[in-house]
Amino acid sequence: MNRSTGRDYLAIPGPSVVPDRVLRAMHQGAPDIYEGPLVDMVPGVIRDLKAIAGTRHHLAIYIANGHGAWEAALANVLAPGDGVLVAATGLFAHGWADIARGLGAEVQMLDFGRQAPVDPARLQAALEADRQHRIRAVMAVHVDTSTSLRSDIAALRGAIDAAKHPALLLVDCIASLGCERFEMDAWGVDAMVAGSQKGLMTPPGLGFVFFGERAAQARRRAPVSRYWDWEPRVAPQMFYQFFGGTAPTHHLLGLRAALDMIGEEGLDRVLARHGRLARAYWAAVGAWGQGGALALNVEEERHRAHAVTTLRMGAPDATRLRRWVKENAGVTLGIGLGMASADDPGADGFFRIGHMGHVNAHMVLGVIGAIETALTALQIAHGRGALEAAADVLAA
Ligand SMILES: *Cc1c(COP(=O)(O)O)cnc(C)c1O
Repeated sequence: MNRSTGRDYLAIPGPSVVPDRVLRAMHQGAPDIYEGPLVDMVPGVIRDLKAIAGTRHHLAIYIANGHGAWEAALANVLAPGDGVLVAATGLFAHGWADIARGLGAEVQMLDFGRQAPVDPARLQAALEADRQHRIRAVMAVHVDTSTSLRSDIAALRGAIDAAKHPALLLVDCIASLGCERFEMDAWGVDAMVAGSQKGLMTPPGLGFVFFGERAAQARRRAPVSRYWDWEPRVAPQMFYQFFGGTAPTHHLLGLRAALDMIGEEGLDRVLARHGRLARAYWAAVGAWGQGGALALNVEEERHRAHAVTTLRMGAPDATRLRRWVKENAGVTLGIGLGMASADDPGADGFFRIGHMGHVNAHMVLGVIGAIETALTALQIAHGRGALEAAADVLAA
């Protein structure tokens, strides 16, 4: 029997599902980039993105994926030889650290492993040890997409201040923006990077760098190249006509539609929906774990992301399960990323579920049902009642 014909569901943590409304907005001929609706639309896009980020300061938009935004943020605040302190809670902080090394920074890693968030006390101690203030910036990832850990960003600013250290706080919100509450100004974040293809429901290709006044000051001593310089990009008319080159026309049209959807639902409700759907997944995993080796990677609920969930089971079962649901149920789950170990070199004991952006209850219940079916078909020991447990969360 063919069980998978019908609409497929890419349930990986980015790129996320692109709503039909976003696709329709992009389905048009090339617009005028010098005047007219596209140009008129941009100030509103910038305003809405800043509202989601919780900032009244600046936003530079690049035609780039998250890696480009990573580089853009660092290139504007670092000079070769500057020290940076990277707080790692999974693979992505290591990736960002590599970009810093590429720019000539001296990288100090504070690695919290794969199951714990950033510990502010350790961060404070590392900054207190830096008596000469060689560390220019602390870099951290809000939600790490490999481990599904979420760190308390306000507490990191607290640690920097408690150490009486002048370092900038730079945060990667690529997985979390539009899924988790983020208060850039209130939490004392100096620069934040995001991308279009996760919580913002638009295809990959737009990179965002939000920055405040202290970061803008730091830009003065950074030898940033013309293209990555964020200064001209904060003025929308410059962005089109002089320094940025051709505008990312269709991405902007799609993003406008996505921001309209967020605005119509209301940001608070969007965030609450992500929390509720995440808890439905956690409840399902709790039920499976009662009778087998399936478990959430992050034990403590308050450290779990609302945008992505990483699950652990015996290797190689996670890979078998992923293949089964893809071939038989039309659902693509995320691979185990950054979870390889000596016992499990292929990370075959991990998989991830993305629940960012355009996701609703029936999609979540469908994925849970598909996983349940795969566990049964593959005769992997598991507790029953996952769908009931998820339904209870969604019904409450
Ligand atoms: C997806 C992601 C990135 C990388 O973004 P790309 O667009 O793939 O370059 C970086 N950090 C986090 C937390 C992510 O989820």
